[in-house]
Amino acid sequence: MAEQLAAFRPVHPRAASVRTLAVQATSRPFPGFARVTLRSTGDGFEDDFEYLGFDHWFRLFLTAPDGTLDLPMGGAEGWYSRLLDIEESHRPVVRNYTIRDARRVGEAWELDVDFVIHRDTTTGEVDGRAARWALDARPGDRVGMLDQGRIFNVEGHTGPLLVVADESGLPGIEGIARSLAGAPCDYVLEVPDAADRRELSGADPVWTVRVAGEDAGEGVLEHLRSRVITPDTRLYVVGEASFVLAARSLALNSGVPKDNVQFCAYWRVGRRAKRN
Ligand SMILES: Cc1cc2nc3c(=O)[nH]c(=O)nc-3n(C[C@H](O)[C@H](O)[C@H](O)COP(=O)(O)OP(=O)(O)OC[C@H]3O[C@@H](n4cnc5c(N)ncnc54)[C@H](O)[C@@H]3O)c2cc1C
Repeated sequence: MAEQLAAFRPVHPRAASVRTLAVQATSRPFPGFARVTLRSTGDGFEDDFEYLGFDHWFRLFLTAPDGTLDLPMGGAEGWYSRLLDIEESHRPVVRNYTIRDARRVGEAWELDVDFVIHRDTTTGEVDGRAARWALDARPGDRVGMLDQGRIFNVEGHTGPLLVVADESGLPGIEGIARSLAGAPCDYVLEVPDAADRRELSGADPVWTVRVAGEDAGEGVLEHLRSRVITPDTRLYVVGEASFVLAARSLALNSGVPKDNVQFCAYWRVGRRAKRN
């Protein structure tokens, strides 16, 4: 989805090509999340990749419904038309994910990725190719990756910082808190389950826990309505689309200029991500 509707400057990777990574390990660090650690496979990623911290994100290519992994190999430019050139039955499923953390292990890179395990609200079944993939992932499984760089960029801003997200933004928020290294920043964050809350490096977030049946982000919006947002604030908001737009409107109505709002719709209620 990656709808970036405001003027802000993302930081692009120095070089990026579609690469193959392999699952190294899996775990369940929080009830609502599955963590998959991906490891580079010696195909050039080791030379290209530079971890930018913050909310560094990437396109994740998962096996096609027939189990094959036929990737649109090559550089970032033109990746989408190369994807469409792949015959539909072999075409990989593409989703957007954030690098929660990254480290060098010898020559290789290891990337931790946290997947929200979201469920159909009627049946309770895990709903979504990526969410299901993360639960079933096994060491050695292969995926494709295309580095996209980071969205969060507050360079030159000296006023207050306000970071707002639902659970889909939490992996990136962990990276942001780590990268800000204790610089003043307020966080208002929502999770579906109190046990999904976590320590954020150098931060003391306001947490809201979603009440069953409530829309994503409702608790956060309620908090924002009761708080003073000064016009010199820089707002970063990611999560469900309607919630993101509502949070943005609250900031604009408080006098925050449009250019001081960085926002990205990570997902949308009732709508599957576009690519397969
Ligand atoms: C830049 C960027 C970075 C992102 N980083 C992460 C990340 O690190 N971790 C992460 O979990 N997500 C992240 N997302 C969101 C993720 O890409 C979407 O949630 C994606 O739709 C999940 O794909 P899926 O195959 O599981 O579900 P889909 O097939 O896309 O959707 C199936 C159903 O599930 C619903 N749904 C989708 N996502 C959610 C959700 N989070 N909560 C509740 N219902 C949902 C849809 O409305 C649809 O009805 C990011 C998105 C962007 C744009």
